[in-house]
Amino acid sequence: MLEKLEPKCVFNWFEKFCAIPHGSRNTKAAADFVVRFAEERRLEHYCDAADNVIVIKPATAGYEGAEPVILQGHLDMVCAQTPSCTKNLETDGLTLRTDGKNVWADGTTLGGDDGIAVAFGLALLDADDLPHPRLEVVLTSDEEIGMLGAAVLDVSPLQGRKLLNLDSEDEGVFTTGCAGGVMAVCRIPLRREPFSGESWELSVTGLLGGHSGEMIDRGRGNAMLLLGRLLRKLETATALRLQIVEGGEKDNAIPVSARAVVSAADGAVLEKAAAAFDAELKAEYRIADPDVQVAAHRCDAAAVPMDEDSTRRVLCLLACIPNGVQERSMEIPGLTQTSLNLGILRTEETALCATTCIRSSFASQKEMLVDRVSCLTEQLGGSVELTGDYPAWEFRPDSPLRTLMTEVYREQSGREPEIAAIHGGVECGLLSGKIPGLDCISCGPDIADVHTPQEKLDVESTARTWRLLTEVLRRSK
Ligand SMILES: [Zn+2]
Repeated sequence: MLEKLEPKCVFNWFEKFCAIPHGSRNTKAAADFVVRFAEERRLEHYCDAADNVIVIKPATAGYEGAEPVILQGHLDMVCAQTPSCTKNLETDGLTLRTDGKNVWADGTTLGGDDGIAVAFGLALLDADDLPHPRLEVVLTSDEEIGMLGAAVLDVSPLQGRKLLNLDSEDEGVFTTGCAGGVMAVCRIPLRREPFSGESWELSVTGLLGGHSGEMIDRGRGNAMLLLGRLLRKLETATALRLQIVEGGEKDNAIPVSARAVVSAADGAVLEKAAAAFDAELKAEYRIADPDVQVAAHRCDAAAVPMDEDSTRRVLCLLACIPNGVQERSMEIPGLTQTSLNLGILRTEETALCATTCIRSSFASQKEMLVDRVSCLTEQLGGSVELTGDYPAWEFRPDSPLRTLMTEVYREQSGREPEIAAIHGGVECGLLSGKIPGLDCISCGPDIADVHTPQEKLDVESTARTWRLLTEVLRRSK
């Protein structure tokens, strides 16, 4: 299907790779394919139980003394399809389409994120006419579900201290840093006792949410915190005890809805206060979150009510836990430097469990927020457990790889690249943590609508990125 597209070697490998199902957690066949490729060419290679693959090609003549270069991408893709598509992406390959300008897949995601990195890597390993230093191609698994492959990757076969990550979707934007993160799970013990009153359900719904890294600066509402504000208002209007309070699905998503069941002495007051708060939020969020909705309904009891002290402590947590953007970067305009997002809230019989995802470009500010959240939780009689800690990829004021990439990009395109950093986590962050002194940068061709069945890879942009890559390697002497 893609045989007419240039560069032929890249699209040829891309098409072959797309024939193999390779959704996250289903990367065995894709890893085997790369291993077979390496075996056939007698290239040094490594494959681990997580399906991470490393393939190494010696330097070409004249480049023996040059510093090795690591090229990196991920094997797995997000599988999504249109409602009418009958494919089973666990077992079926993609059906590729092109009009010469773009490449897409019929009814499904294309997995250009990050199949194009695999194609670039294989094309370079396969070529016999391109000069380059020792090439170390690293293809990780399960990036899309939390960088699981990169987390367990054994980097000991790698000699390179320069890494080119090919998991960006915006040509001309070079990513040079990302935030580190950690999950703080706050547990607050609860006591329960009977309380005479009506059971009411209160809810906040209709919010837009979004990824807690990329979208935290959009001013969107956090359902749990808005619900917390409502409950604090109600508590001053009538005697009230919490039964349960919950919301959110994922620690890395801004929660779009939350609900509480309470026992209240005076239900009529609740209904009125909820309606008033609904109007207040609709005004407050008319730009950032216009469909926010607050509701109150009579309901059946959900649990024995918390006692007065436990109710107070839970409401205090929701009122005081820091949330959202805390600092913006003074170095890279528009970049969120430090933030946190209360993503999951659950009530158990004897404890409230709240998970907040802390991110910062600086380890020291991550630590500051961990301390702030811990301090509050401990005051409320609870404790904090930290999980999923990963280091920041800190911007290097001095980066020879960025200088070379910028020089070649400027010559080839006549423009300056945009030097960016992101507030989400990327594999470069994990790898920087594992390889001290790593100089890395992330780039890639234009890909539109990634993670959706409308995903489109730009053919010309792919060709330009290939020229950039091969020229950067040629000059890496
Ligand atoms: Zn990706």
